[in-house]
Amino acid sequence: MTLRPLVALCVLLVSLPLAAQWTNEAVTGPTPIRAVWHHPVERNDAEVDAVVARCKKGGINRIYLETIYEGRACYPSKWYEPHADFKNFDALRSYMVAGRKHGVTIDAWCHVFFVGFADSPFIRDHADWLARDDKGRISSEFEIFEGKKYHFLCPASVEARRHVLEGLKEAAAIADGLQVDYIRYPVSKEGQTYCHCARCAKDDDAAREARIVSFVSEVRAALPKTRLSASVFPNVADARQSKRQNWPLFDVDEMALMAYVASPEAVAQAARQAPWKKPLIMGLGPFMGLGDDVMVAQTRAAKEIGVAGIAYFALHSMPDSLVSRLRPVLMAETAPASRPTTPKPGPAPTTPTP
Ligand SMILES: [Zn+2]
Repeated sequence: MTLRPLVALCVLLVSLPLAAQWTNEAVTGPTPIRAVWHHPVERNDAEVDAVVARCKKGGINRIYLETIYEGRACYPSKWYEPHADFKNFDALRSYMVAGRKHGVTIDAWCHVFFVGFADSPFIRDHADWLARDDKGRISSEFEIFEGKKYHFLCPASVEARRHVLEGLKEAAAIADGLQVDYIRYPVSKEGQTYCHCARCAKDDDAAREARIVSFVSEVRAALPKTRLSASVFPNVADARQSKRQNWPLFDVDEMALMAYVASPEAVAQAARQAPWKKPLIMGLGPFMGLGDDVMVAQTRAAKEIGVAGIAYFALHSMPDSLVSRLRPVLMAETAPASRPTTPKPGPAPTTPTP
C-alpha cells in the first residue's frame, strides 16, 4: 500500500464527520429551511390547498402543522381523540396531499407533555399520569392562556411516556418529519415546582432533566429515519432552571429556537450563543406584533448568521404584505451584507451600490 491512498483515506475519514456538522457560517443562496408554524383551522381540502399554495408563493418550503396538541389530534388517531373540528376531516392527510402537490414539506408539530386545559381527555381518563406541583395541584398556576390553566403529563410516568411515544410514531408515519414541542416540565417558580407526584419523590433536578433528555432519545430510537426536530427556549440556563429542558443534550436532527424577541440584534445573539452544531432554525415571532420592518430585519439578521432555517410563529400572524416582503429576503441568492452595527473607519465608499 502506497502512502498516497493512505493519506487520502485519512483525509476522508477526518473530513466525513466535519462535513456532517453544521458550522453556523454564513451561506449563500436561499435559506434552506423556510418554515411556518400553523394551527389548522381549515375544514376541507380546498381550504388546505389554498393555505399551502399561499405558503409556496411566499417562498415557504416547510409547514410545521400543529398535529397533536392540547391532548388531542387533528387526524384520526388510535392514541389521541380528535379535536371537535376534526372529527370528520383528516387535516394531517389533507395537508400531506397539498404539500406533495405544491412541493412544501409538512412536519407534524406535536405537543409532548402538555396535554391541554380543564377539558383535556387526559384529566378525564388518566389523571394519575398528570404532573403535580408541590401542593399536589395538577394545573399550572404559571402557564395560563386566556384564563385556561395548562396541564402536563408527569415525564416520569412510564404509561404516559408510552402513550405519547406511540402517538408520535403514528403521526410521524404520516408526515414528512416530526417536531416535538412542550418537551419539558411545566414552568416552575418559587412556590410551585414540578413534579411532586409519588413517582417523583426521589427526583432531583438532574434526574428531571434526564427524564426529558431520555424521552427524546426514545423518540429518536423509535424513529431512526424520521427527520426530528425540537422547539425549545433559546436561553439554556432559563430552560433548565424553570422547565428542566436541557436541550443541548437532545438527540435530534434540527433545533428550532423560539427566539421571540424584539430586536434583530437579539435574534443574532441567540443564534450565535446557541450551543448547537447541527442545523439551527431560528423561530421568529410575527405574533408579537412588532411590525413588518422588524420581521424583515430579524430575518436578515438570522440569514447573516447563516442559520439552516427560519421559521415564523405563526402563519395566522402573517398577512400577505409581510409574506411578500419576507420572500425576497429568504430567497436571496447571496447572504445580505453585514449590517453596519459598528461603522468601519475610513472614507465612505464612492462606488454606487446596486
Ligand atoms: Zn411526577
